[in-house]
Amino acid sequence: MPTSAPKNSQSADSFTVAAGRLTPAKWVASPNFNPRPDNTVINAIVIHNISLPPNEFSQQDAKGNHYVEALFTNTLDWDAHPYFKTIEGMEVSAHLFIQRDGRVTQFVDFNERAWHAGRSSYLAQAECNDYSIGIELEGSDFQAFTEAQYATLAPVIAAIHQAYPQTRRHLTGHSDIAPGRKTDPGPFFDWAKLRESVSALMRL
Ligand SMILES: [Zn+2]
Repeated sequence: MPTSAPKNSQSADSFTVAAGRLTPAKWVASPNFNPRPDNTVINAIVIHNISLPPNEFSQQDAKGNHYVEALFTNTLDWDAHPYFKTIEGMEVSAHLFIQRDGRVTQFVDFNERAWHAGRSSYLAQAECNDYSIGIELEGSDFQAFTEAQYATLAPVIAAIHQAYPQTRRHLTGHSDIAPGRKTDPGPFFDWAKLRESVSALMRL
């Protein structure tokens, strides 16, 4: 092994988490959060998929804002698409959103409680929003995620594990914490590939 291997996008320190923020990441503040309960230990990461309208990617509003960004900032034009009427008034967020090209946006400080999981429970603990970090991947239950998304997601998770060590054993999906109600990240999400990449980064 050379002692100075060239760095690439998968290097363990390509992302860092400090004081509740991921670096590098675009920051867009969402109003949809509240404090975590006192003395909460952040101990889980929940993976989701989202696309607006469903199964369409990279769609933007008239101002050039990604529809998902608009949804998470309560600026989505409910009249812009018939589907949006069905979710009108919904106030949701996630800590992170990873687009098809791998770009990552942070909407909520990790130390605050984002509104991504809804009614849920994990390992007999209800209200996953209280103690989890929510990551939305732009995608659907019907299409594979992109290499660029995995290439971002794995080192981001490794960075979260470094900052919040209790999350290391609790990487889960929305469908696992809200069975019967939620199906994301869906059958095309490659858990084995993700876990392998994260493990490799954690060993570096
Ligand atoms: Zn979800």
